[in-house]
Amino acid sequence: MSDYDLRPRRSVAFIGSECYPFVKTGGLGDVMYALPRALSRQNCDVKVILPRYKCIPWQYQEKMIYRGEFRMDLCKDGRSFYVGIMEYVWDGVVYDFIDNEEFFGSGNPYTNLVDDIPKFCFFAKAALAALNYMNWVPDVIHCHDWQAALVPVFLRTMFAGTPVGDAKTVLTIHNLRFQGVYNIPTIQYWTNLPDYVFNKDALKQGYEDANMLKGGLDYADRITTVSGTYAGEIQTPFYGENLDAHLRYHSGKLRGIVNGIDCGIWNPWTDNKLAVQYDITNVLDRKRQNKRALQEQLGLWQDDHVFVIGLVSRLTDQKGLDLVNAVLPRMMDGHTQVVVLGTGDEQYENSFRHYEDAYRGSVCSNIMYDEGRAHSIYAGADALLVPSLFEPCGLTQLIAMRYGTIPIVRETGGLKDTVQPYNRYTNDGNGFTFDHYDAELLLDAVNRAKTLYFTNRWCWDEMVQRDMDKDVSWEQSAAQYRDLYLELKP
Ligand code: ADP
Repeated sequence: MSDYDLRPRRSVAFIGSECYPFVKTGGLGDVMYALPRALSRQNCDVKVILPRYKCIPWQYQEKMIYRGEFRMDLCKDGRSFYVGIMEYVWDGVVYDFIDNEEFFGSGNPYTNLVDDIPKFCFFAKAALAALNYMNWVPDVIHCHDWQAALVPVFLRTMFAGTPVGDAKTVLTIHNLRFQGVYNIPTIQYWTNLPDYVFNKDALKQGYEDANMLKGGLDYADRITTVSGTYAGEIQTPFYGENLDAHLRYHSGKLRGIVNGIDCGIWNPWTDNKLAVQYDITNVLDRKRQNKRALQEQLGLWQDDHVFVIGLVSRLTDQKGLDLVNAVLPRMMDGHTQVVVLGTGDEQYENSFRHYEDAYRGSVCSNIMYDEGRAHSIYAGADALLVPSLFEPCGLTQLIAMRYGTIPIVRETGGLKDTVQPYNRYTNDGNGFTFDHYDAELLLDAVNRAKTLYFTNRWCWDEMVQRDMDKDVSWEQSAAQYRDLYLELKP
């Protein structure tokens, strides 16, 4: 990017429910961290607005500076609430945390819908009120997922005619499965939004429910999702989570922009969580050392020649784990090891624990959330499995490629857009893929990967280097977001 960017500057407020390193439960947290930083390098002035959860580590809390406080009307019966603003400036990005003990004092970002619905009704309105309070009116307000989806609705109703009402809005869908659905009277009570927004084209869903994401999609000026393929898929009944017709209706303002990863954090050359750091020039030798270290750390048989498959994932239905469960015994041929890292549904946690018992020394199931271990697996594994039922973008396959670990993925959503299948005739591609959601096809993809690894290591190694060389950074995607902001005339 040139130092002399002649395109007009844009100011953007990001509003979302999580952001690394303050609080992260999945890919949204990574995006809320990396995209604002990439945008600030592309002539954008970015503020990120987040809830001040109790679970944010003290090392960040203690550096926050008090920016002010006010009371805000929220509920239908006139109940008003305290809104505090705590600020933290870091690397060109301003983070403003919305403080309220009643909503955010319980610790974790998400608990259950009964508590989460009021929490994010409050958050959406408080974020806009805070922008007015700070007298900072951005050109664009960029909201993320259902937790911030009421922002465009509030903006065009209660905040129309206030300073922040001049801003344009972009709503990004990171995962359509989660929509913030509850009965109309409850959401009406917690927002005091006018009756007309609860019509069937906006918030109303079915006979008695209100859907916060659906309302946001209607009121936003632009909708984005995190890959081109997912943007198409969500307009079909299979992937549309009951909003496919609504999304088809709004398809003119919908587009897909694939995620990147922060190449500062995910850099095997500087990653101090690895046994040995490496780059493209020494990856073949040093990856072997990382594999050894991983096997030693996890109590697996130590052998340079086995094929190590990693799986770093939330353990939920979305991630295709029933396919893995169905064929894992047939993957275990004495030359293969499987390392799982994840938490989630009890059924999957237990089945992976069972496989660890059944194949001790060859399977290791780490039922936990552990950033450090994730880094060790990306560096020490030969391949990473991402057989998702649906995957809006997926970050783990991008991280894997950056670490020279070959992704084995199902061709859906962002996995399809970012992993080009290996072609043995032309010897190009980045990984192994399969199309239909079928355990036998997953097994076939794993076997194709193993065949190349064991019988044609030269071509495998070339792919390792090709993957490390692939541009998986945020720069290109951030430029597409910046262009989108420029399209939206203030
Ligand atoms: P999703 O957002 O659907 O969970 P993504 O692939 O977009 O999936 O992002 C997952 C992110 O969370 C990646 O950065 C991955 O490394 C991280 N992650 C997932 N599970 C764990 C875990 N158990 N421990 C550490 N990091 C994890």
